[in-house]
Amino acid sequence: MPREYQSASSINTYRQCPRRYYYQYIKNLPLKKSIHLVRGNLVHSVLEEFFNINIDEISKENFDFELRMIALELLKKHWLLNKSDIFETVSPKEKIGFYFEETRDMIGYWVNDLLDKLDPDDLVTSFNKLKPKTEVEFISDKYKVRGYIDALFDDEGIILDYKTSNKDYITEEYKLQLAIYCLLFYEKYGRMPSKAGINFLKFGEEYITVDDELIEFAKKEVKKIHEMTKSDNVKEYPKCEGPLCKWGTGECEFYQICMKG
Ligand code: SF4
Repeated sequence: MPREYQSASSINTYRQCPRRYYYQYIKNLPLKKSIHLVRGNLVHSVLEEFFNINIDEISKENFDFELRMIALELLKKHWLLNKSDIFETVSPKEKIGFYFEETRDMIGYWVNDLLDKLDPDDLVTSFNKLKPKTEVEFISDKYKVRGYIDALFDDEGIILDYKTSNKDYITEEYKLQLAIYCLLFYEKYGRMPSKAGINFLKFGEEYITVDDELIEFAKKEVKKIHEMTKSDNVKEYPKCEGPLCKWGTGECEFYQICMKG
């Protein structure tokens, strides 16, 4: 059944391969879990919970050590909570240690960056200023699009998305995601966000220019996807065969069904 509301993920899936969109969003076939997805979700939970700490209980003298330890303990907690998914998705199993260390390093870089921005003389105020609203859902009934913003500073109008990928630059895919968030923000608050960017946990923050052109780009892509996905006939969703079908030891979630069809 065609979708009433689209999202950055659904639009990006269509842009990669309309047939893949068909399997995922029209047929609603289940997605295979991957370690990258599992890890992405658990890291988001760690960051979200980190900001719920009571900063008044952190000592002024030792705050950097204490905050690092809190982040590490949260990572251990969420790693354990997700251990069966991690075990299921990592192959060979010896690589689980590698993923844990890589994730610990990512969280470590992120905490270092936060510590650099904290004012030791006014820990509470500076921490609260850096504390975003997390996982904020936005829905536009006008454009029929929705999205969850990872970190939102609504007073300042700053939108931030966390990425655990190995990329350190804003791809077209990420640009479209941010453009849609900016459109959603504009719809809700009647003003442009001041900044929109990605926090690449391994590499730091990158921002894009927020202007009318970006908002128009989002509107155009949202309009286009609604027009292109009205049908539930598979023939209307061409295959886009290429590197996304199969690579190294991996393959598209729908490779087996797709190649038979
Ligand atoms: S296997 Fe290739 S053509 Fe088929 S859905 Fe996946 S990406 Fe598209």
